[in-house]
Amino acid sequence: MNAHEFDRNFSRKVKSERIATHEVLTDIRKCERERYHLVLGFRTTLDWLVKRHGYSETAANRRIQASRLLTEVPEAEEKFLAGELNLTTLHQVSVITRAEEKRTGAKIDKRLVIAKIHKKTAAQTEQLLRAEFPDTTIGKDSLRTLSSTDSRLTVDIPQELRTKLDRAKDLLNAQTADVLKQALDLLLATIDPQQTTPPSATVAVRVPRKLRRYVIQRAQTCEYVDPVTKQRCDSTRDLQVDHITPVAKGGTNDISNLRCLCGQHNRHVAEAHYGKNHMQKFRTIREPVALSH
Ligand SMILES: [Zn+2]
Repeated sequence: MNAHEFDRNFSRKVKSERIATHEVLTDIRKCERERYHLVLGFRTTLDWLVKRHGYSETAANRRIQASRLLTEVPEAEEKFLAGELNLTTLHQVSVITRAEEKRTGAKIDKRLVIAKIHKKTAAQTEQLLRAEFPDTTIGKDSLRTLSSTDSRLTVDIPQELRTKLDRAKDLLNAQTADVLKQALDLLLATIDPQQTTPPSATVAVRVPRKLRRYVIQRAQTCEYVDPVTKQRCDSTRDLQVDHITPVAKGGTNDISNLRCLCGQHNRHVAEAHYGKNHMQKFRTIREPVALSH
């Protein structure tokens, strides 16, 4: 085999790699849409890609972002298959346009952006996007685990947010982390659909606080298990108490009928019992239970 034959062979392999990646992206979108990761015992699509399929977090995140953009801009699919766009450039566009939309509140025509970065390298794309969206900063957030109890958050914030943060710190006489905690508690109590429970369970049989704390401490992590693969979620985030047999179907507060689930899985099983539409009609705020060690 000479160099040119070798190169032609290689070119075919690159093409099939691109086709396979495109199929992977399509499936990731499908998983996100259908919420298959919840059935399979994972809290998020990212968890499913990392824990089940061995992607690094960066690689998984890049694919998730790229897959969202491909769904939104079908023209990008052809360009991706032709090798004129790649995972990195799709990810860059997806992240910055989303951040810009959030900042301005206006929808961006992503087809125009895609047309501009067509056949560009990652570095050229970055330059182009920075010029196009000079007021949006991205990519500098980092959240690192320091120990089982602490993490370090580094984030770039605009002056307007800095002013608000300083004011809240003054008023509360608190450090940034305390302000952040209090602000998030307030926010999540209003907007988080996971902090909700079906009305029958709330009204008829509310689990006493002591019992809820016991169930959560007994389990320590989300007890959802995929009945087929036995994959257990094990998330420690947003833990809530769930009636295994729902109250509406005769379930009681007996300790054997209670289990600990993460918010995502609690909502998932509630939707399975009560139906999605029914769940969306009722948004009762549930008191959070702190896990004390
Ligand atoms: Zn879970």
